[in-house]
Amino acid sequence: MRILVSVKRVVDYNVKVRVKADNSGVDLANVKMAMNPFCEIAVEEAVRLKETGIASEIVVVSVGPATAQEQLRTALALGADRAILVETADELNSLAVAKALKAVVDKEQPQLVILGKQAIDSDNNQTGQMLAALTGFAQGTFASKAVVAGDKLNVTREIDGGLQTVSLNLPAILTTDLRLNEPRYASLPNIMKAKKKPLETVTPDALGVSLASTNKILKVEAPAARSAGIKVKSVAELVEKLKNEAKVI
Ligand code: AMP
Repeated sequence: MRILVSVKRVVDYNVKVRVKADNSGVDLANVKMAMNPFCEIAVEEAVRLKETGIASEIVVVSVGPATAQEQLRTALALGADRAILVETADELNSLAVAKALKAVVDKEQPQLVILGKQAIDSDNNQTGQMLAALTGFAQGTFASKAVVAGDKLNVTREIDGGLQTVSLNLPAILTTDLRLNEPRYASLPNIMKAKKKPLETVTPDALGVSLASTNKILKVEAPAARSAGIKVKSVAELVEKLKNEAKVI
């Protein structure tokens, strides 16, 4: 089985993001970038499927600028076999990414495509679902467990107030939730080996897709600063404030 894993380069989750002075977007100058955490879980799941002999090859793909090669190399160090960068400097929305991934799916013919449930920068939670629509593949989103059984993929999904298990025909799309697994760290020897693994760069034109965006970001604003809290001396004072100042009880 060939598995395609889609990884996105995002601002590292430890970074406190700043909005640009002109409100046109987030300031990315000198900001640490990393692989989207849900994509790390996607890579880990693919590597585990290869370790158990279910998968034979893991291909990782990213759509974005040349610098996304760093995240592809990380995925190669974690155990992927080869990487594809669909290189573009354009601002991308989920549909554009899904179209590029669809073209890669057509070329690579994977039995399973694993994506993160959402990218922590734009919080869209759309790309996997859109890719399922474009390919016609079955989809198991928000997965906390995935088991391949013959030509089926049984996925336990995290839904409001519980878990739902669905059985999908392969080929299928899986999107990862937080509890699916705990990603490993890349070892130094594997980071060195990853430098020699194949990384192919293709243009959207070569794939025959247009990544022109259908929407435009008009304005980005930081959340309003929260005012400091106060300490009360007694429960009675707390109740009095909740009743008369906050008016919540
Ligand atoms: P989103 O729908 O943007 O929240 O992203 C969900 C998942 O889609 C991510 O975790 C990635 O697996 C994939 N994805 C989104 N954008 C990209 C991108 N530019 N390149 C590769 N994969 C992406």
